[in-house]
Amino acid sequence: MSRFNTLKGVQDICPPDVLIWQEIERTAREVFHVYGFGEIKIPIIEYTDLFVRSIGGDTDIVEKEMYTFTDRGGRSITLRPEGTASVVRCYVENHMHNLPSPQKFYYSGPMFRYERPQKGRFRQFYQIGAEAFASESPRCDAEMLSMVNNILLRLSIGNLRLEINSIGCKVCRPRYREALVSYFSEKEDNLCTDCKTRLRSNPLRLLDCKIETCVPLKADAPLIPDYLCDGCKSHHERLKELLAACNVNFYENPLIVRGLDYYTKTTFEVTTEHLGAQKAVAAGGRYDYLVKEFGGPATAAIGFAMGMERLAALMSENPPKDSAALPIYFAPLGQRAETITLSLSEKLRAGGLGVEPGDGATLLKSHMKKADKLNAAFVVIVGDEELDKGYGTWRRLSDGTQGEIALDCPDVVDNFLRLARCPEEPVR
Ligand SMILES: [Zn+2]
Ligand SMILES: [Zn+2]
Repeated sequence: MSRFNTLKGVQDICPPDVLIWQEIERTAREVFHVYGFGEIKIPIIEYTDLFVRSIGGDTDIVEKEMYTFTDRGGRSITLRPEGTASVVRCYVENHMHNLPSPQKFYYSGPMFRYERPQKGRFRQFYQIGAEAFASESPRCDAEMLSMVNNILLRLSIGNLRLEINSIGCKVCRPRYREALVSYFSEKEDNLCTDCKTRLRSNPLRLLDCKIETCVPLKADAPLIPDYLCDGCKSHHERLKELLAACNVNFYENPLIVRGLDYYTKTTFEVTTEHLGAQKAVAAGGRYDYLVKEFGGPATAAIGFAMGMERLAALMSENPPKDSAALPIYFAPLGQRAETITLSLSEKLRAGGLGVEPGDGATLLKSHMKKADKLNAAFVVIVGDEELDKGYGTWRRLSDGTQGEIALDCPDVVDNFLRLARCPEEPVR
């Protein structure tokens, strides 16, 4: 293992793959914008305690997966394993509860978890997420789910399944928790080691276990919908009505409990069958107590995050076209032409046109090869003969059409922009 390789579970994202990432980010931003979500930039490092308190000390993330270190000032610092905790901290720290509600934010960037790397799972992974504060209404849940649905629709990712559940509130969850503990206690001897611990610390997570011997034990486990209080029940019923009104397809799955402590009422996951074991591409839920736990006033909230690597993997079969393909390649023949084409290239770039100026010492044949490799739409040849006339010879690589274009006139930038806009249609 060399120091000059990436770390295990960490990857570079290079062209052309990065085009897919840009497409996902651009699409998500556009959809967030029409739903009134504004971008928030949250730090990558936070006090460790922030994540322990919000995600919960009994979760896999906090127990085994965080990148935690002591900084030079002796503070315990953690690379963020998820985004919600930081956004909630930011909301409280900046007194955003004093602003008109709801406050709606989105973020994107890398997260860090020390997990066993496998297909679709990385130690540095990227998420785009959104959080909405100060709306208790199930309308807010429905809007967020419809927003997630719209992002995925616009990315043309098919065969996805949205599953929803309610995991109750302070009133009803303790009753359900008790029922679960009493059900699994009878089966304790057959549970895996992790589940034995969960039975005491975090019994809802027993439902998440994927270990073969644990799966059949869940078959007759009590299910949360049977234990919801009236408030949680009507919230969930109203959410379903509104999802139908928004034309969002969904399935109910009483086993969606999510691994984190802070969720209340609505939880959801969007899954796919196409990524092997790594099924979830987006997930989230409501967390009505977290703002208060962070020292703010009681404030209902809901959020979600989606995984960039998994979305990108799903999109890689139909990658977006490279809009960055090069419009103009200059082929100067000699030093005088090199000076003029470089100077002109800078003018065109300032005008927003993508240009690659070639080297004056290169022969025409090599220029053409290079332009082809760069996937240029037009080559503009400038030799001594052209320079004397003040014109360059353009050649369209797709069909070999040729023409002349002035190199030094008041509307030279406009003329080149017009030329570049016709990579396939007839040039005037
Ligand atoms: Zn309840
Ligand atoms: Zn288990």
